[in-house]
Amino acid sequence: MRILLTNDDGLHAAGLAALRRALASLGEVSVVVPMRECSAGGHAISTASALPVREAPLAGGLAHVVDGTPADCVKLALSEILPAPPDLVVSGINHGANVGICVLYSGTVSAALEGAIAGIPSFAVSALLRDGFSPPFDAIARRFARLAADILDRGARPGVVYNVNFPDRHPAKARPVRWTPQSRTVPFHDHYVRRLDPRGRPYYWLKEHPALEKAEPDTDVSCLRRGHVTVTPLTCDLTHHDLLRAAAAARRDGGRHGTTS
Ligand code: MN
Repeated sequence: MRILLTNDDGLHAAGLAALRRALASLGEVSVVVPMRECSAGGHAISTASALPVREAPLAGGLAHVVDGTPADCVKLALSEILPAPPDLVVSGINHGANVGICVLYSGTVSAALEGAIAGIPSFAVSALLRDGFSPPFDAIARRFARLAADILDRGARPGVVYNVNFPDRHPAKARPVRWTPQSRTVPFHDHYVRRLDPRGRPYYWLKEHPALEKAEPDTDVSCLRRGHVTVTPLTCDLTHHDLLRAAAAARRDGGRHGTTS
């Protein structure tokens, strides 16, 4: 099996190296990653700048390092860098959970979505951070590789991102895997820190930390908080299907529900 591995934390992230080592048990791993950290960079692609690529050593092999975004990395890998299409795209292990509304900001999830857009089974994998806790990335990566193999054995669906999150404990102590919907809550507190630059001009820096308390039950956020490993299948389609069905029903009934056609 050919695997494309990427992330949004850049070449030097511990989660990336751990995942490369663990995924070698599943197949041949090619790494294409952004040069800089692109966390919370979303699904941006570069259309107004060049995309320089260089090679760098990573965990006993080579990685392609792109001066671009996570989505750039996957697009470029699929169309130019890899000699053949991969069977699987994996993005991670992100330093920080990607649950609830975070998936919309996440470069990790967006890179995996780029694989899904290309019709390739894709995984995003992230680890919840907490003050005083360093995720054991090698153990998490090995546990993820077994989970991914199980999902692939049962037939991973193309066009879907399996968004996997690990709780803030050793995976041997994690509660069982839960398949959950995405929470609609914002699972972090954030605020802007105001400082002055050396010339006395103000600047702001967004500071955030996890806040998982307020989520709906049995969602990715609440299950992760309770110590489960979570799997949430995501698609690119943001359509509100219930509202479409209601609009279609209103048209059939000759109703006036605000539809324009
Ligand atoms: Mn990140």
